[in-house]
Amino acid sequence: MADCVFCKIISGEIKADFLYKDDLVACFKDIKPAAPVHFLVAPVRHIPTPAEITDQDREIISRMFEAAGKVAERLGAAQSGYRMVVNIGPDAGQEVPHIHIHILGGRKFGWPPG
Ligand code: 5GP
Ligand code: ZN
Repeated sequence: MADCVFCKIISGEIKADFLYKDDLVACFKDIKPAAPVHFLVAPVRHIPTPAEITDQDREIISRMFEAAGKVAERLGAAQSGYRMVVNIGPDAGQEVPHIHIHILGGRKFGWPPG
């Protein structure tokens, strides 16, 4: 999508610190980290919210979780634990309308989230 910051990152138009990329998903560091480990997993295809996920996206969704887990492990966040967050819509504070999982680790997190 033309003016989507994550589409631009994934296509290479905007620079990012990539941790993983394949034909379906990309993992890159969040520009404003909220924890010692903070990266994002986004599909290559522009999917704005879960409402736009179709049957054809099943492999994408599964690969997003697989990539999240493998990169978290590679970064040393898996043993002590980490949090996955998906913000959807204004109440959750979704800034970028291209679905993504935040992976946060390296510190303790409160529950429920603020
Ligand atoms: P949201 O609020 O939509 O769940 O999260 C969007 C996230 O994308 C934020 O944590 C923000 O810091 C990150 N972000 C926004 N613009 C950029 C960018 O240009 N590069 C990177 N690496 N992260 C970004
Ligand atoms: Zn996009």
